[in-house]
Amino acid sequence: MSDAPSDRPFHALTAEAALRALDAPAGGLTSDEAARRLTRHGPNALPEPPRRGPLLRFLAQFRNVLIYVLLASAAVTAALQHWVDAGVILAVVLVNAAIGFIQEGRAEQAMEAIRVMLAPRAAVLRDGRRATLDAADLVPGDVVLVEAGDRIPADLRLLEARGLKVEEAILTGESVPVDKAVAPVPAEAALGDRASMLFSGTIVAAGTGRGVVAATAGNSQIGRIGALLSDVEALTTPLLRQMDLFARWLTLFILAVAAAVLAWGRLAGTMPFADLFMAVVGLSVAAIPEGLPAVLTITLAAGVQSMARRNAIVRRLPAIETLGAVSVICTDKTGTLTRNEMAVAALAADGRIYSVEASGYAPAGAVRWQEAEADPAEHAVLLDFARAAALCNDAGLHPGRDGWRIEGDPMEGALMALAGKITGEGRAPFPRWSRSDAIPFDVAHRYMAVLHHDHAGRAAIHVKGAPEAVLALCADQRAHDGGTRPLDAEGWRRTVEDLAAQGQRVIAVAMRATPPEHVVLDVADLQGTLTLIGLIGLVDPLRAAAAEAVAECRRAGIAVKMITGDHVATARAIAAQVGLERPDRTLTGAEIDAMDDAALAQAAQEADVFARTSPAHKLRLVSALQSRGLTVAMTGDGVNDAPALKRADAGVAMGLKGSAAARQAAEIVLADDDFASIVAAVREGRTAYDNIKKVIGWTLPTSAGEAITIVAALLAGLALPITAVQILWVNLVTAATLGLALAFEPTEPGTMRRPPRARDAPLLTRELLWHVALVSTLILAAVFGIYAWATGQGRAPALAQTLAMNALVVLEIFHLFFIRNIHGASLTWAAARGTPVVWACVAAVTAAQVAITYLPPLQSAFGTQAVPLTDGLLIIAVGIVFFALLEAEKRIRLALHGRRSVG
Ligand code: ADP
Ligand code: MG
Repeated sequence: MSDAPSDRPFHALTAEAALRALDAPAGGLTSDEAARRLTRHGPNALPEPPRRGPLLRFLAQFRNVLIYVLLASAAVTAALQHWVDAGVILAVVLVNAAIGFIQEGRAEQAMEAIRVMLAPRAAVLRDGRRATLDAADLVPGDVVLVEAGDRIPADLRLLEARGLKVEEAILTGESVPVDKAVAPVPAEAALGDRASMLFSGTIVAAGTGRGVVAATAGNSQIGRIGALLSDVEALTTPLLRQMDLFARWLTLFILAVAAAVLAWGRLAGTMPFADLFMAVVGLSVAAIPEGLPAVLTITLAAGVQSMARRNAIVRRLPAIETLGAVSVICTDKTGTLTRNEMAVAALAADGRIYSVEASGYAPAGAVRWQEAEADPAEHAVLLDFARAAALCNDAGLHPGRDGWRIEGDPMEGALMALAGKITGEGRAPFPRWSRSDAIPFDVAHRYMAVLHHDHAGRAAIHVKGAPEAVLALCADQRAHDGGTRPLDAEGWRRTVEDLAAQGQRVIAVAMRATPPEHVVLDVADLQGTLTLIGLIGLVDPLRAAAAEAVAECRRAGIAVKMITGDHVATARAIAAQVGLERPDRTLTGAEIDAMDDAALAQAAQEADVFARTSPAHKLRLVSALQSRGLTVAMTGDGVNDAPALKRADAGVAMGLKGSAAARQAAEIVLADDDFASIVAAVREGRTAYDNIKKVIGWTLPTSAGEAITIVAALLAGLALPITAVQILWVNLVTAATLGLALAFEPTEPGTMRRPPRARDAPLLTRELLWHVALVSTLILAAVFGIYAWATGQGRAPALAQTLAMNALVVLEIFHLFFIRNIHGASLTWAAARGTPVVWACVAAVTAAQVAITYLPPLQSAFGTQAVPLTDGLLIIAVGIVFFALLEAEKRIRLALHGRRSVG
């Protein structure tokens, strides 16, 4: 407000004075003027949170206990003048930091892209008509329309308010919504008392309003207090925190074991202390899963990215884990299972059913009665339909380059198109009527009412809404001759059932004339006074992918339940079309209200269709299903859906038609509102969880195998089959490549044919421990076996060690291919084919091993010798035997216990 020309603040000015002060026409700015103001004031965006520079971000990678241990080992090793060892340990640290750095950059980019996708939009008047813009394009003087659920895009001086309540907690800390009104308030009013203002970043809890932008970006109240509105959270989840903690304890444990081994070796005295010390350092570095936290974060970031590619934007990271465990999806019907592209198909009036032709939202197409085109001159009721449809309507219809486009609610767009078809006037039918007042649509009363006056001094009320709601307001009904006759409520109910059974959404329209001095519309003006015009049936086609997605859920053991405000017969028909399991098991809002929580828990699990519900029912349904141990995903779009979205295990908000309030409450936002995207997100959630399990299932046995090889040799007083520096090398080349490859594993076939995992299933299961023990023992046996065989064959000790080290790497590669398919057989062509990432990693590791084995400088640094071809083949044969043993064990285990995974 700093640049207001008046010295009184906007909240103390009248609406007219505020408009003058801002040099703003009440009908909105022109695009040209808005563009000029945009260059003057800059975009309406809050400053970005400061970003860490690349150097700081790189250094931050070293802030980790695991890395401290490695750095300390490197320092001690260097002090002992084991330069190669120290160099390799430092390389481990650097590679680890580089991976963390790169992945963090990519994750930040992904989150940034998500932030852009979640960018707020605003409805404004530009060039005299309603348009939807990026909130960043707002300028002072713009006239903005807000409704329940919207986040206020800039500081606004109210011009009009209807039942407007706003939740201003982020500014005032007050969580109870405050009433807003147009009247000025005293200049010295505190922020929380400025009822004539709407503040950027606050959320409309109820009602509708219109206001002129008084301040944008940094000049708004929120901008001045420097608050940052963040839509996305940091990259961690309970699971990752748990693993992070686990890695630390493991490190402590390893250090304790290392100290014990050092003490033992010293007492036994079989080895010079310096060599002993280096062996212990090697075993510690090998065993510490220093890469694990970073790789797990990468796995999660990869999951976020693949979900974003499937149009599911993750706002809270833990949702990735919960999504994989979802066992029931409660979904809206309109717009999620259906396209929310409505068209009027039928009109019912006084015993006649008219059929209506539609193509998109074009205001053209025949209205027919008994096969013949119906002329409004003979069918006067059609004009009543058209007037009610056009006047009781907030949508706009514009001819666009590719057909007619709507601005606003699709159902109202379809009604506009209907009015156009009947009157022949597309953009502005009934221009002589101007709206004086309105009762906005609300799910609580399920109708919308408007009061209009025309030039001739006449006034009329029009109402549209759910048939039960509108019939309850009517006294009589329109007759063919233009007069009225008594209301045949029972007959209308039958017609509603007939139309709804065809899957049509049915609404009723009614009207009455009223004295011209009547200018304020009250609910009391409607009750029992209206004349019913008739029913309008609208069709809304199913989304193309919805039926297949429902079928996929059923295969995956996920129940799908439809929740809608629509009529039960409409809901049932759509449920059957989309293939829900039990479309006839329905529950209505009224039936839910009559049940206590225990009865509802039972009934909710059995029913698949919930009709004529309001958002409060959603909350009860979520709780009821959760009380049955189910993990619930729930969709929502309106401001009243927010509690249910918060309560659900995975709240899913609609990105297109959803309100800011719903998005804020949700874990996931769908960029396309499509049910199929929820299912895709569940699939990606299962994949990400599997991959986390695979990363852990590969890393732990590998580290353990490397470590116990050294421990066993030291305890037994044997020569080391692999030297300390070689272990460090193996740790370096495999951790950065093979461990990372699993983060990008694609979805395993059959992922959506498994039942959902239990929500609280632990990651570190008995099966996993068994797998760690089995694999590390096999590694130990193979490494010692090769070494013993080679020395027995009279190979030089250096060659025997080189063979053992290469065998270790080969085993790790085979283990990788094994772990890629924890749920199914690994011995299939598809499983063995691998992915480009896997093969790139295998190629990199192979190149590194060839280099250390055959390049003279590396040979002298690491004490290796060139391996003859036959010995190399033997190593590969050992790898194949190892793989076969693991695979046989998996099949026996699956056959015995029916267990499906190592994790
Ligand atoms: P859904 O769950 O299918 O989105 P809603 O809760 O939006 O259903 O709507 C429930 C009922 O309220 C609809 O079947 C219709 O009868 C009525 N209705 C919806 N929108 C409007 C509106 N803008 N004006 C009047 N009535 C409406
Ligand atoms: Mg709706």
